[in-house]
This record gives sequence, C-alpha cells and structure tokens, in this order.
Amino acid sequence: MSLHYEISIKSPHKHLFSVKLTLKEPNPLGQAFKLPNWIPGSYLIRDFSKHIVSIHAESGGKDVPLRKTDKNNWIAHPCTHSISIEYDVYAFDLSVRSAYLTNERAFFNGTSVFLLPLGFEDEECELIINLPSNKEVLGQWQCATTMKPQKKSHSTEIYEADNYNELIDHPVEISNFTLFEFEANKIQHRMALTGTHSTDIGRLSSDLTSICQHHMDFFGGATPFDNYLFLTLVRSHGYGGLEHKKSTSLICSRSDLPVKGMTSIGADYTKFLALCSHEYFHAWWIKAIKPANFINLDYDRENYTEQLWIFEGFTSYYDELSLLRTNILTPDQYLSLFSKNVTKVQKSSGRMKQSIAESSFDAWTKFYQQDENAPNSIVSYYSKGALLAFVLDIDIRRNTDGDVSLDDIIKYIWENYKFDGLEDDTVKLVIEELTMLDYSDFFNSYVYGVKELPLSDSFHYVGVECTFKHSGLSSFGISTKESNGSSIVTHVFDSTSSQLGGLYVGDIIVTIDKLKVDFKDLEDCVGSKSVGDTIAVGFLRDDTLGEMIIKIIETDKTFCELSIQDKLDPETKNRQRRWFYR
Ligand code: ZN
Repeated sequence: MSLHYEISIKSPHKHLFSVKLTLKEPNPLGQAFKLPNWIPGSYLIRDFSKHIVSIHAESGGKDVPLRKTDKNNWIAHPCTHSISIEYDVYAFDLSVRSAYLTNERAFFNGTSVFLLPLGFEDEECELIINLPSNKEVLGQWQCATTMKPQKKSHSTEIYEADNYNELIDHPVEISNFTLFEFEANKIQHRMALTGTHSTDIGRLSSDLTSICQHHMDFFGGATPFDNYLFLTLVRSHGYGGLEHKKSTSLICSRSDLPVKGMTSIGADYTKFLALCSHEYFHAWWIKAIKPANFINLDYDRENYTEQLWIFEGFTSYYDELSLLRTNILTPDQYLSLFSKNVTKVQKSSGRMKQSIAESSFDAWTKFYQQDENAPNSIVSYYSKGALLAFVLDIDIRRNTDGDVSLDDIIKYIWENYKFDGLEDDTVKLVIEELTMLDYSDFFNSYVYGVKELPLSDSFHYVGVECTFKHSGLSSFGISTKESNGSSIVTHVFDSTSSQLGGLYVGDIIVTIDKLKVDFKDLEDCVGSKSVGDTIAVGFLRDDTLGEMIIKIIETDKTFCELSIQDKLDPETKNRQRRWFYR
C-alpha cells in the first residue's frame, strides 16, 4: 500500500491531534495536497484547513519545502523518495461535523484531519490510530468506527480504506463509551454512547431494532452496509446528526434517552428515535443513492443540487412515519408530531417566496446561514420537503386507487438507480412511469413553484381532520427568547401586527400597557387581545427605552391541529390504515 496515515492524540488539553501522511511514490514534479473545505451531508464551506498548525514535509530525512497555494491546498518541492507530511490539527468542535479532543474523548471526521494527496484519490490507504498512552489520565479508551479493521493491539489500531472517499466517510470515536449491539436481518448493529448517562439500554436497543428492521424491509431487504454503527454523544443539551455510509454521528441531550422505569414515550425520546431513524434511512437515501452530481464531489467548493428536498425531505417524512409503522408511536402521537412540522412551515411566509428546489440549491448560503429574516425569506427543504412528500404520497395513492404509493417510488428508485445517481427529473419520471400520469403540473406548482400545498385536502383523503388556529405569539407576529427574565425578539414575521407596528429583532419587551411583563407572562398578555385592539409595548432598544402602539390585525391562523375524523366510512378507514401501516 503506498498511502499511510497515522493519527495520534498529541495533547488533549491543547486539543491537538498529530497526523503523519506518508506517500511512497509522490509526484516527481512536486506533490500537491489538499484538505476538504466541507463535509458531505452538511452544506456549508467550513474551511477545516484553518485548524491545521505546524505543517511540514520531509523526504529521506531532509526537510522538503512546502508551499501553500490557497487556503486548503499545498504543494511540496519535487523529491524522488517517499515523502511524509506531518501536521497538528486543533480539534475543539463539539459538533458532529468536525473533530474534538479533550481528556474526555477524541472524535474526528476524516475531512478535518486527513490531507488528500492529489492524484491518489482512488488509492487504497492504511490508517494507524495510536491510542492514548497516558491511561492514568484518560482511562481505558476504546475505539469505535466502521472503517475496515486490520490489526489491533493495546496501543494501536490499524484500519484500511479502499480510497480517500472511503477514508473520510467513517468517523472515529475514541473514549470510554458504553457499547451495545443488536441484530436486524442478521446484520450487526452497534451503538456507542459517549458521556454521562443512565440509559435503559434494553428499551433503546429494542426500539432501534424495530426501526432498523422497518427501514431494511422498506427498501426490500438488501442493505448498502455489512454492519452499522450509531455514534452518540450524550450532553446536557444538544441535538444533531450526520449521515455516513455505514454509521452516523449523533448528539443528543441526556433527557432524550430513556431511563429504567420509564415506559411512556415523551417528546424528547421521540425526537431522539426520529433522529436515529432519519440518519439510518440516509444509508440508502443519499449515501448509497444520491444526486448524480454528488457521485464525484469537489471538496474545494460548493456542490449544488436541486434535490435536497428529495433526499432530506423524503427522509424527514419517513423518519417519523416509521415510528408509527413500528408501533413506537400511536396514531394520535404521530399526528401530534406531524402537526408541529405543519405549523413550522405554515407560520413562515418564506414558503411563498422560495421553492423547495431553490431552497435545496441555495442550502450553502441560505439554509445553512440563516439570519433573523429567514422565516420571511426562505423555506426548509427538510420541513416543507416532508410535507411535500406527504402530499405527493397521498396524490399518488389517490391517482392509482391505492395501488402505488411513495414507498413504491422510492423502492423502485433504489432498485434501479442506486449506481447511477438521480438527475433532477428522475423522481418525476419514475412517478410518471409507475402511475402512467403526467406530473408536470404537480412539480411546477409545488417543487419549482410556491403554490400552497393542499394539506387539508390530503389529510381529509386519509380521514384526518386538519385545522388551523392562533396560538402563543402567532397572532402578534413575533418569536422571542428569554433575556434576564424579559422577552427579547428573535423573529418578526411578515405582515403581522408587530411588523406593521415597528417592533424589531433584538428589542427587549419590558412593559405591556404600562405594566412590567416577564418572559413567562408575555404570551398570556398579548394572546388575550382581539383583532382591532391596541397594545402599548414598552421596549428597550440599544439600552434606550421606547414605547409603541401596536394594533392587532387579522392574520392567517397557522397553528396546526390534526386529529382522526369521527365516523370514517370503510373506504377512508382502509386508506388510513394503508397510509399508517403500509
Ligand atoms: Zn438528513
């Protein structure tokens, strides 16, 4: 093997990994190297190279000059022997997207730590991980990853990757984690829980088994992996996940995990299971099958696609629906969860300005770089993508008398396109092929256009009542967060009482009708007002006291409630059963 990577824990307190890359036969004209600027699955230029310190190269015992050609590219002076590049990487990002090293754990994604020697993209490589030697400080750390293992000793683990893309798609967790295993379809699944927790492993393992089994069955039984690993970091507060080929990195809050004696399913545990479900679904739906132009990624720059609504939106639809189909949630619990997503989309006027195809394309600069005006200007390809998946699912069922559903479309795509990737029109063409209908209007209206989704009508078809009302601060038109007991305005929604009255993001609301108002009381104070009423709002802006009169105007009701309709006719009941349980 001509490519060797070696990573060591240099200093937990300085948060430094040291990395050595050795190349037996470098380009004799001068070997170039690069570090990715982004990590697949998270569409933002993150410039990981800014965390590289003390980089140098040597060959045959002599230093080789290394020149930086731009922020993430280097070229070494020509040399005839093997070349080694050594560098440190500062790692103190607690997210799932980068690398982290303290005396409690070491975690890294290859995109943050492994330089790519240009021209060697397809070469097999070896990775040596040197485990911490100061065990009196760090304890007995273990290593968890889905990279191909080769050898193991008490201080070193050796892995292999078929190529660079493979090398960077297996995150590595090294710490004193809790590891448990379960099987689904005879395939080994593991979860490593890092951090303080007192999880009911039996319950978690049983629920994960059901979810994994569901997804395997959904895609017809074949898996794109031979084993799967959930890497979960448990924190006091946190939430996040990133999909990989055979694994996922997750962050959750301690309260998201079930504890012994807990038998009900709360909102927190539901959120965690939906996250696991979401990332696991991705193993098929974006890791194995993906947009065609994601097959060869450019790690230097943004890689644009209009299809994130397909891959993230459909995944967001099925991550929750599968919790119903596995009986982890009851229909009422599922509909309650679904209604929250409907509210989230409907309360933001950005859905009327940006299509979900545009939202996908502009993920790099808009969705991943949201500012306070985001609800008024953009729409989420996750949230609206999930609603669109539902509307599309129902439309297909209705048009085919229940013979075809979105499940069939996805399964068909998985079976027929997994090696080619999807073009922008593939999903539409497959739907048209399987339904024998023209879906141009549907796509022009709801994917490439901003026509309001026929939600109530779609729910009605499966016997679910969808109603909208005002709730909380929605009729007033703001969202807030607490600041020293008062409410600080975080968003002002378009064409609402607050916006017309002149309330700005950052204003701290201190009085309503001359009386002091705390954060916890604002909702009641404002919610009790009716259309036509006026409210005197006292506020601090840049430490200066002001007052404005806000007139309550009529606004759209956006808070969604979903419930199963009473007295369903047998046909509707059957449609509902088939939607709920396939
Ligand atoms: Zn996702």
